[in-house]
Amino acid sequence: MSTAKLQPVSAAANTPAATLSNEEILRYSRHLIMPEVGMDGQLKLKAAKVLLIGTGGLGAPLGLYLTAAGVGKIGLVDFDVVDFTNLQRQVTFGTSDVGKPKTEAAKARLSNLNPEIELVTYETKLTSQNALELFRDYDIIVDGTDNFPTRYLVNDACLLLGKPNVYGSIFRFEGQVTVFGMPDGPCYRCLYPQPPPPGLVPSCAEGGVLGVLPGIVGSLQAMETIKLILGRGDSLAGRLLLFDAMSLKFRELKLRKNPDCPVCGPNRTIHELIDYNEFCGMRGEEEHEVDLHVPEITPRELKDRLDRGDDLFILDVREPHEYQICNLNGHLIPLGELPRRVHELDSSHEIVAHCRSGKRSAEAVDFLKKAGFRKIHNLRGGILSWSTEVDPNVPRY
Ligand SMILES: [Zn+2]
Repeated sequence: MSTAKLQPVSAAANTPAATLSNEEILRYSRHLIMPEVGMDGQLKLKAAKVLLIGTGGLGAPLGLYLTAAGVGKIGLVDFDVVDFTNLQRQVTFGTSDVGKPKTEAAKARLSNLNPEIELVTYETKLTSQNALELFRDYDIIVDGTDNFPTRYLVNDACLLLGKPNVYGSIFRFEGQVTVFGMPDGPCYRCLYPQPPPPGLVPSCAEGGVLGVLPGIVGSLQAMETIKLILGRGDSLAGRLLLFDAMSLKFRELKLRKNPDCPVCGPNRTIHELIDYNEFCGMRGEEEHEVDLHVPEITPRELKDRLDRGDDLFILDVREPHEYQICNLNGHLIPLGELPRRVHELDSSHEIVAHCRSGKRSAEAVDFLKKAGFRKIHNLRGGILSWSTEVDPNVPRY
């Protein structure tokens, strides 16, 4: 498939807003003096309506650049609040925004950047129940989410409504960008017919992310969005751009429409939105977590027993680089090494296992119980709860 020459995608973009004020002309003058944008293009931007799904790492450059560029109406969908750990990459937010709803904090920042823009906030989780109604009023949907159920949901809703989906994703040091949902173009399901097994791909919270990476990938999405509105250049539709930050290399994969695609193929079987958590196997994972009942000790109980001089062996099942951030002077055996290093533990000893939040150490306790250990507890809430409930000098991460 040759690269698609762009046509303006929206009816709205074909009937641009009538004029720009003198102030807008000054604000957008560096656009206006380029023949590729000009007055015609700036009026298309002003008439365009773009919905951003997620106001986090990808949403930050997207929101900032689309607002600065003069996209007339921008919708912001997010249900989260600003967390202190977001500030390392979600550059829309400032330190004083911590604890505020992300949509509210983003709207405040973006309306300060460009008061000409109509900013509409939707402080809600995108679901199969609300997606079609939310998308209906917009010309282009931009996917800035970080989880598989939402990506499939955004894809299917865009196809059902015939709207372009500007897609971006990041993983550790790598990014992906493309445009799905163009007429005759492939969709997310053509590329990934099946979601990965739940838990296989860690989130940013679990796997970490270098803060500038979503800045680069989100900026590329913003560029593609603006090109779609202007009807200029070659779209990434039909091409998957792969970016490797470590080697600083861009690669490109040709994407083809899958004739057997269940949502965009000729014999499609999906005609309405489905349960995407179930499709991605998330339900089962949640149940699995709840099912893991292991003996627990609270941080306060542990502190009291240590103060009494009880002989407790602290087992830390985190990774060595986490141990460097903070530790309880425990014996370090990362969870993945536990099966082959179990001989380092004495089953006659009373053991308290901990990790960051209590999840990995619950698995460790479960494993050790099955291996015959009887006197073993999981530190409830991990070293994070220890920091909150016992010793605030222990840093949280
Ligand atoms: Zn498809």
